[in-house]
Amino acid sequence: MSEGFGASIPKSKALFERARQVIPGGIYGHVQPSATIPGVFPYFAERGEGGYYWDVDGRKILDLMCGYGPLILGYHHQEIEEAAAIQRAKGLVFNHPASLSVELAEKLVDRVGFADWTVFGKNGSDMTTWAIQVAREHTKRSKIAVVSGAYHGVDAWCTPGKGGLILEDRVHIHTFEWNNLDSLQSLFSDYAKQFAAVVVTPFHHPAFGESELPHEGFLDDLEQLCHREGVLLVLDDIRAGFRLHAGGSHRPYGFEPDLSCYCKALANGYSISATAGKEEFRKAATRVFLTGSYWNNPVPMAASLACLEIIARESVPEHLEQMGLRLQSGISAVAKAAGVDVRWSGPPSMPYLSIRDDPNLYLIQEFAAKSLDRGVFFHPHHNWFLSQAHKEKEIDLAIEVAGDVFRSLQNG
Ligand code: PMP
Repeated sequence: MSEGFGASIPKSKALFERARQVIPGGIYGHVQPSATIPGVFPYFAERGEGGYYWDVDGRKILDLMCGYGPLILGYHHQEIEEAAAIQRAKGLVFNHPASLSVELAEKLVDRVGFADWTVFGKNGSDMTTWAIQVAREHTKRSKIAVVSGAYHGVDAWCTPGKGGLILEDRVHIHTFEWNNLDSLQSLFSDYAKQFAAVVVTPFHHPAFGESELPHEGFLDDLEQLCHREGVLLVLDDIRAGFRLHAGGSHRPYGFEPDLSCYCKALANGYSISATAGKEEFRKAATRVFLTGSYWNNPVPMAASLACLEIIARESVPEHLEQMGLRLQSGISAVAKAAGVDVRWSGPPSMPYLSIRDDPNLYLIQEFAAKSLDRGVFFHPHHNWFLSQAHKEKEIDLAIEVAGDVFRSLQNG
């Protein structure tokens, strides 16, 4: 480790040293230092406000990751905090669900359109794992098809990690290629009547790679194929849900899943996830055991009711798209002026930036590192997230910093 390593994040570094003593690895999962750029990006955060947060070293950072997705309205949103505070004063966990769970289920059923019921959990993985169990219960089949490179959570059937797995965990998990229905059809042919579910995200968003939108007709054809084969189509809308459309991502892409899993943008940072499903799977849903110590906590439900209300009332997905388009055209222009060839992929409200001829991602990492030094968090190899708190001023600041950094990259 060089002497100057982490010079700009001394408190983060010191905390990490302490963390290593008492937490395996110090920081784990998608927020570990190696997930961005070690020694440059902060390791620990202190507080947030609107579209910005402060790290433990006191730096103010324009946040284009929104806590990896949940902060759709920005940090510390007054209306959300008030709704949560009212419920918090009444109590956190009871021996029974609160009436808010019924209200929220009604709201979600109404909002997503295709579904007749909803259940709640805490994290995305709770829901994707439960959804495939419901599919298995309903079909009495074992196999699950997922898109190669897609992320669906941390449970044994889907984690990208290698530790602690046994061969049997994946015996019934098969992969096919995004936008390639033939590859799924051939799985269905090889294992006739053995598939319980196909799990897809609304667009393909692998880490360390460009996002891919669905080709015209792909999701609709996938829905038809699943119906013909008696296989449940499970939409993993955990990352994109309510960011592309206030009714869920199946709406702009014009198809209907059988079950859909939501999490990140559901409550602006409060911990709640949900699965919505069609009537015919209600019976199976009641047979798959579902619970958790905190799953009936009504505080995130109060936050979620307020959040869903604001997303629709204030046309948040449309705002995110406008800001995303502004960000993309602005960054493309300053990159071009500096002689850097950039590419965008994914929807504008969840953009993924790459630099051409950058196979090892060195250039994009350099870009992200220098931008962070200037106070803007551009993730080097993950789609970005925008929030309602990002207005023209924030987007223009991001563009200005990107321009300065591109010029310095060319000069370097
Ligand atoms: N599916 C997708 C598409 C996700 O992006 C994530 C979280 N990044 C998950 C599932 C898992 O959600 P969680 O981390 O809340 O378990």
